[in-house]
Amino acid sequence: MKYVLHVEIVKKVGCSLSNVDLESVVLQELQALKTVRPGSCLQADTFLSESLKKCVTSIRMSEISELEFLNETSIDNVKELSIDRADLKFHQYLLEEEEIQTEEFNAGADGDSESVSVANYCVLPHVSCDGLWESLIFDNNIKESLLEYAITSMIFSQHKVDTNVICWNRVILLYGPPGTGKTSLCKALAQKLSIRLKSNYQLTEFIEVNSHSLFSKYYSESGKLVMKMFAKIKEHLEYGESLVCVLIDEIESLTRARNSCVSGGEPSDSIRVVNAILTQLDQIRKYPNVLILTTSNLKSAIDVAFVDRADLQVYIGPPSAYAIYSIFVSCLEELIRVGIITTEKSISFLPAKCVEDSDDEKDNLNNKLLSVAKLCDGLSGRILRKIPFLAYSYFSRSKNKSIENYIGALQQAISQYQSSN
Ligand code: ADP
Repeated sequence: MKYVLHVEIVKKVGCSLSNVDLESVVLQELQALKTVRPGSCLQADTFLSESLKKCVTSIRMSEISELEFLNETSIDNVKELSIDRADLKFHQYLLEEEEIQTEEFNAGADGDSESVSVANYCVLPHVSCDGLWESLIFDNNIKESLLEYAITSMIFSQHKVDTNVICWNRVILLYGPPGTGKTSLCKALAQKLSIRLKSNYQLTEFIEVNSHSLFSKYYSESGKLVMKMFAKIKEHLEYGESLVCVLIDEIESLTRARNSCVSGGEPSDSIRVVNAILTQLDQIRKYPNVLILTTSNLKSAIDVAFVDRADLQVYIGPPSAYAIYSIFVSCLEELIRVGIITTEKSISFLPAKCVEDSDDEKDNLNNKLLSVAKLCDGLSGRILRKIPFLAYSYFSRSKNKSIENYIGALQQAISQYQSSN
C-alpha cells in the first residue's frame, strides 16, 4: 500500500541550497537508504552527501498520514517503511533557539511590588520541543487524531467556514492521571502544527499560561492580573498573520478556586476572577488564528461551562505494556547511542506487537524486555522515563556491561520502585 510519509528537514542557518534543490538532495539520500524507520531521525554526521551536511542538522521521518494504514496499526508498531512505496511530503524549517521568555506582571497590592510570572512565551518550532512528538508513545492513534483535528480546525478557520453552520471551538482538553504526557503532548502538537502549517502562517507563537499564578494573594489584584494577561494574548492574536497556541495546564485549578471561594470567607471577588477567566477564554477562542490546549488531572473538578466548550476531550491514561516496551526501547537506544551500554553486534528492537507474535529464539532480548514492561502495569510515562536512570546504579556496580544485564537491572529498579511506593 502506498502511504504518505512526512519528512521534516531541520535546516542550518545560512543553508545555500534552494528549497527545491534541498528536497532533491534529501530524496537521493533517502533513496540510498531504501527503508527508514518511522519516527527515526538522521543526524548530519551520518549523511552521505557533503552538501547536505553543510545545510541540514537533521532529517526526521515523521508521521505517516495514510488513514487506511493507520486504521490497521499505530506508527509505533511499524518497523520499516520502504521509500519506494512512500509519497514523501517535505517540510523544511529552522529551529528557534531564543530563550523562552516569561511574562511578568506586578501582583502586589497598592504600594507593594511583587512580580509574578503569568505566562511563558516562545516562537515555534523551538529547539526545546525538537523530537518531543516522537518521544511520546501511546497505545492508539491519539497523536495522529489530535494532529488531524488541529489541522482541520485551522483550515476551516482560514477558509472562514461559518461557525453557525459548522460549529467548532478551537479548544482541546486532555485529561487523565498526572505524568501521562498531557502537557508534553500539547507542546508537541503545537510544535507539529508550526511545522505542518508553516506555509499558512507567517509565525507560530506558543503561550503557556501559569493558571496558579493568576490568583494573587491580594484578591483584588487577581482580576487585574487576568485582564492584563488576556490583553497580552489578544495583542498576539490581533496581529492576525500568526497561529497562536495557548496552553493552560491544570485547568481545573481555576474551577477549584471558584468552589473553594464559595465556602471560604471572601467569595465575591474571587468568583468574579474565575468568571472573568472563563469570559476571556470565550473571547479569545473566537479568533480564527488561536488554538487553546488545556490539560486536567481531574476532569470532574472542571467547570462544566468550560468542558462543554472543548471540541475534543481526550482521556490520556497510563501506557499499556506495548507502549511501555517502546518507551524502554527508546531509552535503551539512547544509552547505546551515547556508549553507556555496549553491544557486540548491532541490535534491532522489534515493535512490541511483533515480539508478542514471534516465538523465535533470536528475539530473546526483545522478549525479555517485553516481560519487564509487563511488570510496570499502571506506572505513568514520567516514572517509566526515570526507571532506566535508577537502573543504572544497579548496572554500574556489576562488571558485566551487556545489554542483557542492563535489562536485569531495569527489572530490579522496577521492583525497588514498586516496593517503596
Ligand atoms: P502530565 O502533563 O500528564 O502530568 P507530562 O507531559 O508532564 O505529564 O509528562 C512528564 C514526562 O513523562 C514527559 O516529559 C515524558 O518524558 C514522560 N512521559 C509521560 N507520558 C509518556 C508517554 N506516553 N510516552 C513517553 N513518555 C512519556
